Amino acid sequence: MLKTNPTGAGKGVRTAAEYLAGLQDDREVWTGGERVKDVTTHPATRRGAATLASFLERQSDPALLDTLTYEDEDGDRCAMAFMLPKSKEDVKRRGKAYYEWATWSHGMFGRTPDYKNASLMAFAGAAQWLDLGTERGMGNPDFTQNMRNYYDYARKNDLVLTHTLLNPHKSHAVAGQGRFDDEVALHVVRETDAGIIVRGARLLATLGPTADEIEVFPSTVLKGSDENIPFAFAFAIPIATPGLKLLARDTYDLGKSHFDAPLSSRFEEMDAVVIFDDVLVPWERLFMYREPGLCNQAFAKTNAVVHMMHQVACGKLAKAEFMVGLMSAIAQSSARDKDLHVKGMIAEVMMMCETVRALLFSAEEQAQEDEWGNWIPLRCPLDTSRNLFPKMYPRMVEILQLLGSSSLMATPAEADFSNEISEDVARYFQLANLESRDRVALFRLAHDVCVSGFGSRQALYERFFFGPPALMHSLYYDLYDKEPLIGRVNDLIKA
Ligand SMILES: Cc1cc2nc3c(=O)[nH]c(=O)nc-3n(C[C@H](O)[C@H](O)[C@H](O)COP(=O)(O)OP(=O)(O)OC[C@H]3O[C@@H](n4cnc5c(N)ncnc54)[C@H](O)[C@@H]3O)c2cc1C
Repeated sequence: MLKTNPTGAGKGVRTAAEYLAGLQDDREVWTGGERVKDVTTHPATRRGAATLASFLERQSDPALLDTLTYEDEDGDRCAMAFMLPKSKEDVKRRGKAYYEWATWSHGMFGRTPDYKNASLMAFAGAAQWLDLGTERGMGNPDFTQNMRNYYDYARKNDLVLTHTLLNPHKSHAVAGQGRFDDEVALHVVRETDAGIIVRGARLLATLGPTADEIEVFPSTVLKGSDENIPFAFAFAIPIATPGLKLLARDTYDLGKSHFDAPLSSRFEEMDAVVIFDDVLVPWERLFMYREPGLCNQAFAKTNAVVHMMHQVACGKLAKAEFMVGLMSAIAQSSARDKDLHVKGMIAEVMMMCETVRALLFSAEEQAQEDEWGNWIPLRCPLDTSRNLFPKMYPRMVEILQLLGSSSLMATPAEADFSNEISEDVARYFQLANLESRDRVALFRLAHDVCVSGFGSRQALYERFFFGPPALMHSLYYDLYDKEPLIGRVNDLIKA
């Protein structure tokens, strides 16, 4: 079982069995109107947990060891996402590992642990910033050490983390003014010798039910005023902390075979609202406290956001490649791959795929040292990718629907190949270049991407998981180096 002491003496990457054993604790997870006794056996989460366990296990595969892990100062093999990048080569090594992880689910298990581990690495690598504090000078050396300890603990124990950034709000008008409602938003109730007591809810914890711990970091929209002090903190605690409840949505894993539901039977990563019912957060697990200004800058100042964007872009490349493969297979199966219109639609997706690849290449090739002595990929290309993909992916889904059309509904079940209707199925579902069984398998896969509940959630995820699109676009505009370009325009009109 995992220890909660911040210097727990793990030895780096874990096996599948160790991860699954760690989930069998007192965590309070609810789904479909019932409390889940054991997330490793409950139908809603069982196969998603098993998938993630198999992913963790691959880190010990000798053939992948150098891609997925690095040797730390004690000679332990730790997950690559924890490695502090000290050169451009390190940045590229990290990218290669992210991409490898993503190919295992074709980007459909978006929240692999490398996402959060990348941000934790960045926070630890710039932890002195927590000490330097803000213009108000409220940094805290204890919190700097807490962050470094937690990073060591997480990487030595190969933790699987989820995170939750947003407070729910009852009124968008109030939220628009940068204020929170302490009837629903997560806030500090009191302090004790042991730590702070927090109450309220947070949105949304993807992977929450099958994570080891949860990072509760600040939303980046805290108004820097005193009224937001009770909402300003960053901490991490085990999912199995007393008073912490996860209310998960309905599962998309309906217990079907891999043939019938190729994606949802494997890659249900689950999302949950998190409720804190007077939860104790030990002082040693606090990283920021009572400093809205510090909280607002945290992801940007530490470059955690850049490292997260890097992991995301690698995952989106794997996902886009998969979509190209799926669409091309569909076109070939019915011999429509000579059709100008069909080729044009798939070419559009190929171009999206190559756009992500080029942006990733550009970011890694232009990697640079940051003010903390760590190396980061160039932000602008990655930011371009994170702003474009939420538009690209729904378009990919639309194109898949246009290509698949009624074939997406002509999807008999696996059982129909062995029951009394099997002869009809074998005859009437064949295509020019595919036997019936393979055709049905292919279109059931396409169905899971663009029609099923699992597929719809994927599109929603891509639209929103990294933040509200309008806000991300506006930030992109603010950061873009516009002045030299405006200068050119001015030069022309003044010439
Ligand atoms: C599948 C899924 C998984 C997620 N996983 C996680 C997770 O693991 N951890 C986590 O912390 N969060 C997670 N999220 C939450 C995600 O961060 C939010 O959905 C996202 O930030 C948008 O916030 P919101 O949902 O509150 O929507 P809102 O902010 O209410 O936005 C709703 C709509 O209004 C628009 N809008 C918002 N603000 C403005 C504005 N100022 N001007 C104009 N338009 C605006 C948005 O663009 C959007 O179209 C997840 C979301 C989804 C859908």
